[in-house]
Amino acid sequence: MDDTARLERHRRLWKSDHAHLWHPFTQMQGWLEEEPLIVDEAEGVYLVDTLGNRYLDGVSSLWCNVHGHRVPEIDEAIQRQLGKVAHSTLLGLASTASIECAEALAAIAPPGLTRVFFSDAGATAVEIALKMAFQHHQLRGDTGRTEFVSIRGGYHGDTVGAVSVGGIDLFHRIFEPLLFEANHAPQPYCYRCPLGKSLPSCGMACADEVEKVFAAREGRIAALVIEPLVQGADGMIVQPPGYLRRMRELCDRHGALLVCDEVATGFGRTGTMFAVEQEGVRPDLMTVAKGLTGGYLPLAATLTTEAVFASFLGPFESKRTFFHGHTYAGNPLACAAAAASLELMRERRIVERLSARIEALRRALLPAERLVHVGEVRQRGLMVGIELVKDRATRAEYDYALRAGHRVCLEARKLGAILRPLGNVVVLMPPLAMSEGELEQLAAITLASIEAATAPL
Ligand code: PMP
Repeated sequence: MDDTARLERHRRLWKSDHAHLWHPFTQMQGWLEEEPLIVDEAEGVYLVDTLGNRYLDGVSSLWCNVHGHRVPEIDEAIQRQLGKVAHSTLLGLASTASIECAEALAAIAPPGLTRVFFSDAGATAVEIALKMAFQHHQLRGDTGRTEFVSIRGGYHGDTVGAVSVGGIDLFHRIFEPLLFEANHAPQPYCYRCPLGKSLPSCGMACADEVEKVFAAREGRIAALVIEPLVQGADGMIVQPPGYLRRMRELCDRHGALLVCDEVATGFGRTGTMFAVEQEGVRPDLMTVAKGLTGGYLPLAATLTTEAVFASFLGPFESKRTFFHGHTYAGNPLACAAAAASLELMRERRIVERLSARIEALRRALLPAERLVHVGEVRQRGLMVGIELVKDRATRAEYDYALRAGHRVCLEARKLGAILRPLGNVVVLMPPLAMSEGELEQLAAITLASIEAATAPL
């Protein structure tokens, strides 16, 4: 395609996007005033737009890409599956691809999580976990356990149940009349501690607050729902060491289930296959999505124990069935992609080889300390949040209207990287396959963009 044809095609797509699409989490008024970056193809860890520009995929196409794009082994697995069947249902039927995928998932899951319930998004996996936890207690006759505990700043997806246990006011407050009530405990956000304390003298007072919630609602809590180690969507809030283990102990002491939402943290993202491993925690329910298919196709799963599974068993007429299921649950194409991605993780020893990449990224981000508008750099594995501040000494925040994070991302595009911020937090979530050299390049682009974008603010 010559340049004129390319430009013409770009303009036609731009016009059509503006005529027909409504983009998620996007203020469309502003969107319609700007020229969109239209992704046309990809190669490895680079995205390529309709004008032929190449960009490092700095946020793994919304936190899900693992091995890069157009990975021959995953492409072939999907094509092989296409030659058999693209979709068949799991309602009353089994399928080869879903069996093989569940087997692979159970083999790497934390001990005890042997049952896999498939769905198609992180949010649906969370809905399923909430309903399973609730019904489990009902079926056991512990019918008073109808409430959930969750953490302020938590994010579990955008469906109404997931929003009910979510804790990000900006996204969730307006829907309050639609939600069921959840008991929200204070956020373990050390940089801006909601209790006004600091580690280690606080003795992890935020965890004590969760215990108080359990004590006040004794016998009422079905489950605690938490993003293990890092709250992603609220700005990569890294929990103090030992926090998750405390949550497990609290659940055990108070007869509640522990739901760990590994949608963002799963599949190597924090440096181990699952984040819970780092605290030796075994959840009763675990949700996964995003990286499950290597970032190829929508697939999610809610994993649970034989104990929870057993509560639902009974004769047909007992009606103990879990009455929940999505049309595309366990879609064979997605399951084939997932099995291939998990096999690649094993073959290439992706998790075992992560520490050098994590360290390379950490080192490359060290100069951030010298930037006057960087308040804190938070990193867990290949999950990074760089919090921008108006004033480093007072930690004063930029005004929402200034869109400081967004400005940084626009600068980064000029330098060849795609980023997406969370408010005033610049996020880096590179594909796990990104090389040390590419990670260094991504870090350099990010820091230069922060400097350029914040200088006039
Ligand atoms: N849970 C967590 C921890 C997430 O980060 C996300 C998505 N960012 C979700 C759930 C929702 O996943 P999905 O967008 O696939 O519904």
